Amino acid sequence: MEPDLLEWFATEGLVRYSASASENSDESEAIEVAHPPLVALGPRDDDFVLPPHPDTLRYAGKRLHEMRLQDYNEFLFRWFEVALRAGDVRCANCGRVLRDEPDLPPTDTWDAIFVEKDLVAWMLVHFDCKRWLAKKLTGVQPFDLTPRKTPCYSLSTSATRH
Ligand SMILES: [Zn+2]
Repeated sequence: MEPDLLEWFATEGLVRYSASASENSDESEAIEVAHPPLVALGPRDDDFVLPPHPDTLRYAGKRLHEMRLQDYNEFLFRWFEVALRAGDVRCANCGRVLRDEPDLPPTDTWDAIFVEKDLVAWMLVHFDCKRWLAKKLTGVQPFDLTPRKTPCYSLSTSATRH
């Protein structure tokens, strides 16, 4: 992850830390490992990716250093819209592929969720699946997850909505 993005998340209080022991020397020394927030593109542990950086994607809105959490949430929602069009997002609970179309049947409507517990993550979930999500995420720890690289989408066009 880009150092400035990690720093920004830390300032917003969204980074979690775990201690891991180093066994290099005779004395065991605790090393603190930083776990940035994640984006879930589906229900499985290997569906987590690192959050995108607005500046790298040439996002047409605010630059990262001007953003508050609300601005980042907005940016991430745009990012999700593009990911949805690419067919890359599945429900974080049931795993069905989500669509971004007008007049979706009620069973297919979804919502964006921001979880801020031991695990800090953004995800999309069907309205009907929301009530199962808390149970599904119970016990999910950021240090158990190995996030994949962030898929790269072009946001400069989506923000202007041509
Ligand atoms: Zn679902």
